[in-house]
Amino acid sequence: MNIHEYQAKNLLAQFNIPILSGEITETPTNAIDIAKKLGGDKWVIKSQVHAGGRGKAGGIKLAKTLDEVREHAQSIIGMKIVTAQTGAQGKLVRKVLIEKAVDISHEYYLGIVLNRSLGKITIIASSEGGMDIESVAHNTPEKIIQVTLSPSYEYSSFIGKKLSYGVGLKDEDQVKKFSAIIENLYKLYCAKDCSIAEINPLVLTKNNDFLALDAKLNFDDNALILHPDVATLLDPFEESSKELEANKSGLSYIELDGNIGCLVNGAGLAMATMDIIKLHNGSPANFLDVGGSATTEMVKKGCSIILSDSKVRAILINIFGGIMRCDVVAEGVVAALRELSPSIPVIVRLEGTNMSLGKKILNDSGLKIITANDLEDAAIKAVTAAK
Ligand code: ADP
Ligand code: MG
Repeated sequence: MNIHEYQAKNLLAQFNIPILSGEITETPTNAIDIAKKLGGDKWVIKSQVHAGGRGKAGGIKLAKTLDEVREHAQSIIGMKIVTAQTGAQGKLVRKVLIEKAVDISHEYYLGIVLNRSLGKITIIASSEGGMDIESVAHNTPEKIIQVTLSPSYEYSSFIGKKLSYGVGLKDEDQVKKFSAIIENLYKLYCAKDCSIAEINPLVLTKNNDFLALDAKLNFDDNALILHPDVATLLDPFEESSKELEANKSGLSYIELDGNIGCLVNGAGLAMATMDIIKLHNGSPANFLDVGGSATTEMVKKGCSIILSDSKVRAILINIFGGIMRCDVVAEGVVAALRELSPSIPVIVRLEGTNMSLGKKILNDSGLKIITANDLEDAAIKAVTAAK
């Protein structure tokens, strides 16, 4: 799960990482009131969307007068921001964060990620933080310092120092402050089961203080049950409504660009189904795992979510009956199709426990269902049907 910058900053503050005070609003008039309350003579108006790269896309603006605060808030609220992370359709900005603008002496990068290829936590720091960190990583990778933790190499204050010296800090006071931020970010990362915790930029101000000017936190969905405080930060406007609805019914659903809707049990089989569709020059419209113990109701819900996607030209239902029996699935499919009466072809491949009974239920239903003998046959039939 993703959260907004202002929410992430509140969590950083709980872990003693210095941030600027700021407030969010949905109206330009409030923006002026907030700027007055914060004081100072220049402010930053920051779009709040779940995407990075806002600065380059015109979603972060500096205001030198209160009139400019209103003007910028007016132009940013309601804009469709398009960055490398939003896709071409962009994201609608509903809220802006107003903060004082600080005098920056240097921008650093600090991030903690779960390194999936190593299965370990990696802490990353760079002296070249800011809006071009991607090109730094690409063009001058030696400027990115990484430390990977493991049970035999756990976090210690030594690691904070190593990274501080690695980004070129020499002043003892600066090293102390930078190391403390790394340690606190690591504590937050572990305490809240993050998958990403990133501060970019982490700036050194003209007053010799470090401040987190931007923050991105991403959480492991499977651990949210342990963190109700984090779970409440979900912004439904930022999530696909279909994905939220699926989650509520216990289905894992991710919307994709293609036109073949997939309803599968088991994440591995769902991945294999998408692969074989691609292999036969088709394109999946979604990933949908109904799980190992799906009920008729869940199969019905899955079908209706897939059918609510107007891109879908054919549905491929691929079930391996283990704990979940093929007859139960077949009943779910028949019930769903009776109720939803889709106008597009439905291809079903059943294998495993009670397969013959399942096939009989489908055949006796009188519904127009294309049955397939195996996964490849199913993929070819789905790709052909979607054309
Ligand atoms: P994004 O990463 O989405 O582009 P950031 O919050 O990192 O958004 O802002 C982009 C840039 O704007 C930062 O690298 C920094 O240079 C500048 N900036 C952001 N907030 C402030 C602030 N409060 N004062 C001064 N400059 C800021
Ligand atoms: Mg940033």
